Amino acid sequence: METPYIDIHTHRHRTEPDEIRIFSLRMGNGVALPEGFFSAGIHPWDAEKTDAEALTDFPVGNPFLKAVGETGLDFAARNVDPQKQLVLFCKQLDLAERLDLPVIIHCVKAWEEVLSEVKHRNLKATVIHGFTGSRQLATELTRHGFYLSFGMRTFVSPKTMEALQETAPERIFLETDEAPETIREVYERAAEVLGKEETELKERLFTNYKKVFG
Ligand SMILES: [Zn+2]
Repeated sequence: METPYIDIHTHRHRTEPDEIRIFSLRMGNGVALPEGFFSAGIHPWDAEKTDAEALTDFPVGNPFLKAVGETGLDFAARNVDPQKQLVLFCKQLDLAERLDLPVIIHCVKAWEEVLSEVKHRNLKATVIHGFTGSRQLATELTRHGFYLSFGMRTFVSPKTMEALQETAPERIFLETDEAPETIREVYERAAEVLGKEETELKERLFTNYKKVFG
């Protein structure tokens, strides 16, 4: 069997051939469970309209459930109270710890808070999805054990491309999120930036996937 492409975070319903994908289910929006693998969580943008009560519906024990998330903190989001976000984030981290599931994290302008909440918990794995930022930030995060997932926004940000080059291969994931491009295109771009063969990148990311989500 050929090594599959791994898309660890997508909101798109379309499935491509030769890929393993984790659909991101935003809880509290009345969206039905997708087909195939998924993660489930309360998005920080939904913190005003969705409270912790929604987590009572968390699909514990579903064999396709791969992670908690996306959850996280977005302190640049207007009209969403940071305190409400924080309460939901902590509850979801506790849930992930209890269920021994990886966490997919959305973080904007809240690195300190994310780090301090993650640090004192014993989490299976933490993945920053849609990472953008400097290589200093990337190094700091991987030093704290985070995985970094890169998407199409990487390739319009020179400093994020540097961060990708600087990140240890065993800490990298790729994703489509809401982009119209396919995961194959994300791999092509990333392989170019990394100066690697795509087949080598596929092997590496499949190994990472098995370790974190397998
Ligand atoms: Zn997303």
